[in-house]
Amino acid sequence: MIKPEGYSRTQRAAFTLEQLRTVIARPATELSYVDEYELIVAVILSAQCTDARVNLVTPELFAAFPTFAALAQAEPTDVVPFIRSISYPNNKAKSLVRMARQVQKQHGGQLPRTQKALLTLAGVGRKTAQVVASVAFGDPEALPVDTHVFRVANRIGLVHNAPTPLKVERGLKSVLPRGSWGEAHHLLILHGRYTCTARRPQCASCVVVPACQYYAAHQRLPKPLEGLDPSKGAYYCKTRRHYFDHCAARTDHSGVSQNACPRCGSMNVFRSSTGMTTKTVRDYRI
Ligand code: SF4
Repeated sequence: MIKPEGYSRTQRAAFTLEQLRTVIARPATELSYVDEYELIVAVILSAQCTDARVNLVTPELFAAFPTFAALAQAEPTDVVPFIRSISYPNNKAKSLVRMARQVQKQHGGQLPRTQKALLTLAGVGRKTAQVVASVAFGDPEALPVDTHVFRVANRIGLVHNAPTPLKVERGLKSVLPRGSWGEAHHLLILHGRYTCTARRPQCASCVVVPACQYYAAHQRLPKPLEGLDPSKGAYYCKTRRHYFDHCAARTDHSGVSQNACPRCGSMNVFRSSTGMTTKTVRDYRI
């Protein structure tokens, strides 16, 4: 079997998609919608909020405001009561009404189809424009990067320490075949939502393990030490073999701040109480 470091990024990307396809039967958005109007409203509401929560409020919202025209005639204060349980309800209500008015006035009541035009609408940033372009219009150029795609792509090593969503998007596009970007976006989101979660990735049941750099980095962490004596100090430096109470800080090769021995600077530091290494693996959040 190839080790994670043995894969090129392109091989790792191909392996990842192949594996995720075997466990994710329906790579599609989990937002409930029936047309382009409902989709863009739901996607705007989903910023900094879960799809599940959005799906709880949209049935009543769409019953009250079923079209761009109906929403355009509303005031934001009319919309707020329907989305109060969503994050940033006041700002989102303003954006939704302004967006609907723009669609009515500037686009004849039809949602524009290009990412460029979508980006001119209130409440629509790069990610929202790409989701709508991809899901509603099948735009093959769209590869939206949300918090899940950002985390999963960096963890697995589909991109190399990409610090921004735009860099993740560019990195993914460089290794994934054009034509698979829409599907890849859904596969990575669903993998991040249910398996490679932010706080507790389920590596034990993950089909991507053989190629995952984050998993491999955890396997390379030093094993716990036995027989340490916490009464001699809170930390133990394995390099100089001595105890101490206050760590120094050093940045490792991947840019992570690690505990270090105040005497020799070694990062081979363990907690005396548990015997566990204090080293951590770089993680990725936006
Ligand atoms: S092995 Fe773990 S860290 Fe890697 S993709 Fe799977 S769940 Fe995420």
